[in-house]
Amino acid sequence: MTSKPKSENSRAVELLRRLIDARESEIGCDACSEQMDRLAELMLNGAELDDALHVVRNHVSCCRGCQAEFDALIAILKMESPPERFDFGGTRR
Ligand SMILES: [Zn+2]
Repeated sequence: MTSKPKSENSRAVELLRRLIDARESEIGCDACSEQMDRLAELMLNGAELDDALHVVRNHVSCCRGCQAEFDALIAILKMESPPERFDFGGTRR
């Protein structure tokens, strides 16, 4: 069996982490989730994103936690926009 030196691997991992950190440092998870619903709405409408939202989208694409949140948000927004409102009120007269 050949055992590769672990140090090589961890060095690569550290490099990658630094890259991701540099990207994420533009915006934090808090700021991201604040703008997330706006981003989701615009993306669903196919509207153009402004610079701020590009940063948010960048964060979502490299942050797993926010990505999961964003996916859930998209799913909810898709469900929440039916062609007509449901009316379960039984207000037929
Ligand atoms: Zn995040």
